[in-house]
This record gives sequence, C-alpha cells and structure tokens, in this order.
Amino acid sequence: MTPNRARPRRRARALVVAGVLAAAAALTGCTSVPAATMTVGTGAPASLSVVASTDVYGSLATAVGGDQVAVTSLIDSPTKDPHEFEASARDQLAVKDADLVIANGGGYDDFLPQMVEAGGSSPVMVSVADVSGYPAAGLNEHLWYDVPTMERLVDALADRFGDLDPDDAAVFTANATSAKSQLAALASAEEDLAESYRGQRFLATEPLALFMLDAIGLVDATPPGLQDAVERGGEIPPDEFLQAIELATGGTVELVVHDTQTPTAQANALVENAKNAGTPTVALSETLPKDEDYFTWMKANLDLITEALAR
Ligand SMILES: [Zn+2]
Repeated sequence: MTPNRARPRRRARALVVAGVLAAAAALTGCTSVPAATMTVGTGAPASLSVVASTDVYGSLATAVGGDQVAVTSLIDSPTKDPHEFEASARDQLAVKDADLVIANGGGYDDFLPQMVEAGGSSPVMVSVADVSGYPAAGLNEHLWYDVPTMERLVDALADRFGDLDPDDAAVFTANATSAKSQLAALASAEEDLAESYRGQRFLATEPLALFMLDAIGLVDATPPGLQDAVERGGEIPPDEFLQAIELATGGTVELVVHDTQTPTAQANALVENAKNAGTPTVALSETLPKDEDYFTWMKANLDLITEALAR
C-alpha cells in the first residue's frame, strides 16, 4: 500500500540499528523479561498511538509494542462481520491521531486507508498484504491465519515502532523475538498435525482459515465458487450447493470448517447437514474471541481442528 512511505525512513533506521544491536546483545537469553522493566525514557505510559483495523492486529501490536504503544482496534467484536464495517466519529478521531496504522490490505479493510485519507494525517502505514510478500493477484486476504506472514509482520512492527521511538527500539526487538517464538510454536503444532493428517479433505464455507488448513496438509474439496459466494453474502450456485451438501454428508470429507462471523442461510444449512450426518464441524472466527490474545486464540483454533480430525 505504501512502499514509498517507508523509503524516507530508511536512513533514520540505519542510524538506529547500531544502538539496537548493542541493546539486544545485552538482552540475550532474557527475552521473557517483561517489557515494562526495560522501558527507557520518560516513564510516560505510552509513546506511540497505533490503530489496527481488527483486534487480531491490535493484539500483535500490543505484543510487540508492550507498554510503549496505546492500541485502538476498530473492529473488536466477534459478533460483527468485518467485511461490513462502518466507522464511527470516535474511530475517525483515533485514526487522525495515530502514529502508525495497521491494515490487512488485499481489499479486506479498505475503509482504513480511506479514513487516513479523509483525516488528512500521515501516519506510518503497515499493510499486512504488502508485508506478506505474496502476489496481490488472487491473494487470500485472511492473512492472519498464515504464521509465516505473522512472523514478518512482527518484525515489521518492531522496525517501524523503533523508527518512531528509537529510545525503545531494543524493547520492541526483544518483544518481537518473544512473539516469534510463540509463532514458531504454532507452526510446529501445524507440522505435527500434518504428520498425522496430511491429504485429508475438508469443506470450508469461507476462505477464512485456508492458510492454516494448508499448513496442516489438508486438501480443500470445496466447490470452487462456494467460498466466494458465502463471503460476499451471496447465493451459492445451485449445483455447487448440492455438491457441497453431498460432500458434507457423504463421508468424503473429514471436516467442515465454517466462519461464525459471516453466516449465510446456505452456509448454516451446510453445517447443519454435516452435523446431522456426523461429519465433524469446526467453527472459526475472523476476529478475536473475548478474553483471547492472538496466540491463545490460534492455539485454540488448532485444538478445535485437532479434535475434529481425531474423531
Ligand atoms: Zn472473511
């Protein structure tokens, strides 16, 4: 989204690196030290204002920024459909005041760059789609289910936070290291599952968790137009709907994965049919359930998939 914006900052970052390396060396082996104890500076509660389009990225911003960042997540309720967000005046104000803004990109949350534009401010923009390195064409926008992209994001956030607040750069780097070790644990849990379940087939009502399901080695047997129709809240083509009902009830897929935040009558019918036929179903969400952070949530998602596969 803003490859140009990062460019003028490169010089500033290079100057900061030496200091970061020295401080990081001093922190080796103690990445679990709480961020607060490493705070350098005035002791002000937060030096940076961050706005994230959803609480998924808000959670990761908090993991990297610790007490040095104040995070506002525009979509922070699991009962909302993030595909249909409408900004309030308070949201607009938070965006106007932000030092850094995190958007998913890929068409998922176009409202956020539009709000930045409308507010007339110029925060540092982080686009997860850009950070992912994946080609834009045909990109599955649900990038937060992709652990390698989240590893890149965590590094990108530590870099940008450090540019904006050089005094705390070492804290951000240490926090990012700790976040990446939690991400590595998720990736290795996915690999363990792949050992046991690679090649098994699933039906998914939405493209929501496809990165994760792919990392587990599972094969998407969903008719090609179905997920797009459900995500848009539209009608599944009749022949594909019948085919999906057959898959969900005929014992030819191991699980049916659905999205709790974009229900349609047809998607719900598919899930009901699967349940009645004894096909395991897994309910996943677009944003954080209450009282979870990114890491506990993704671990819980993997546990749900594991339970379903083990049935
Ligand atoms: Zn979605």
